[in-house]
Amino acid sequence: MLKLYNTLTRDKEVFRPINKEKVGLYACGPTVYWYAHIGNMRSFIFSDLLHRTLSYNGYEVDFVMNITDVGHLTDDGDDGKDKMIVAMQREGKTAFEIAEFYTNSFFDDIERLNILSANTYPKATDHIEDQIKMIQKIEKNGFAYKTTDGVYFDTFKLKEYGILSGQKAEEKKAGARVDMKEKRNNTDFALWKLSDSESKRQMEWNSPWGKGFPGWHIECSAMSIKYLGQSFDIHTGGIDHVSVHHENELAQSMGANSVYHAQIWMHNEFLTVDNGKMSKSLGNLFTVKDLIDKKYDPIAFRYMVLGAHYRTKLNFTWEALEASENALFRLQDLVRDWDKPGVDTCKELEDEFMDAINNDLDTPKTLAIVWKLIDSDFSSSEKAGTLLKFNSILGLSLENYIAKPLFVSEEVNVLIKQRALVRKEKDWKKSDLIRNQIEKLGYLVEDMEDRQKLIEIRK
Ligand code: AMP
Ligand code: ZN
Repeated sequence: MLKLYNTLTRDKEVFRPINKEKVGLYACGPTVYWYAHIGNMRSFIFSDLLHRTLSYNGYEVDFVMNITDVGHLTDDGDDGKDKMIVAMQREGKTAFEIAEFYTNSFFDDIERLNILSANTYPKATDHIEDQIKMIQKIEKNGFAYKTTDGVYFDTFKLKEYGILSGQKAEEKKAGARVDMKEKRNNTDFALWKLSDSESKRQMEWNSPWGKGFPGWHIECSAMSIKYLGQSFDIHTGGIDHVSVHHENELAQSMGANSVYHAQIWMHNEFLTVDNGKMSKSLGNLFTVKDLIDKKYDPIAFRYMVLGAHYRTKLNFTWEALEASENALFRLQDLVRDWDKPGVDTCKELEDEFMDAINNDLDTPKTLAIVWKLIDSDFSSSEKAGTLLKFNSILGLSLENYIAKPLFVSEEVNVLIKQRALVRKEKDWKKSDLIRNQIEKLGYLVEDMEDRQKLIEIRK
């Protein structure tokens, strides 16, 4: 029985899909104006984990992740500059070149983190028509109004507004200090923004309201509904999206179709650095490439993320990454000389693992079960079969290590044989000298009861 925490109901619920055969999953993807940082990656590892868990439970998953390439303003609301335009000015490239470059960089990053592909990665700029049609529906149902700079959603007209964040529009208004310009209520948000008549934007489209571009939130409503239907199972994203982006998405879907588009909303907590928000100005915003430049295996970051429950904050430090990498490498090295998986597996531990992952994705517990398996008395072939199953959810690349002994050069093999001989003669000094020679060739030697075990030195 799979249980998931639903932000909408503030409850851990038994997962009951709309359609037993196929689950619809939508995740907010990257805004492609800059390299995605490792906080974003925590969010993508989380949706990947959910994707893998659903598959493990036997569901076919239709997984959609959007690519935001227009409309996301620097303040996440209706103020600030379009992030794509900021990037154009920074790099002297066209908006489409920027989007293409950082979309490719995002795909490289997720591959390095062993994140499985979604079925579809729709781009906002490829779906302008769908967004316009949805705004027209919202307008027809009486939830939209025009101002001189665009079309806005009237949040006070929707009684459900605020249901996701648990804060009513009226309460949000009470705390507001922002300039509303022509907005009726401060929680109202742009569905369509008109281009400034003075200057020509690179990204602008004709619409019934005039030339302009869509607001950021409408893309996720329009594209999730287009690919997954008016009502689908799960929508994910980072916790920062609850009160604005997702609240507004929910409002748009209600305004257009009078139904909730997503039944379950799931949000990952933040990855912090130095216990605070990552920012470029503080010099603590790291990317997957930064990890690689510092010679870390990106999968070690994945291991680190899995070590914390997705609904708890996780503080990134290089020391914590180092510790995660040590644990990961130890795990990978340990399973190399296991026998290949046979028919039998470790059923009790598999049940325990399933209970943990199905309890709202309790990954810290699943990692503890992995180590319990390693230390258990099951045969190595039984362990191998079970660990492969665990790995299909955890995605720690263990398939490349389980029952795959190290392949070393003839030179190393000869040294190992020589060392075995001198050890028989109890010539410990010579044994140590050969150990050093082997180390220089890239391997640590561990003396086991019956043999010498080689461990690759990876950095
Ligand atoms: P963006 O590219 O800004 O649209 O963000 C992509 C995803 O990353 C969204 O789901 C955000 O909520 C999430 N996110 C942003 N910063 C962090 C962070 N520091 N930790 C975890 N998730 C984050
Ligand atoms: Zn979104």
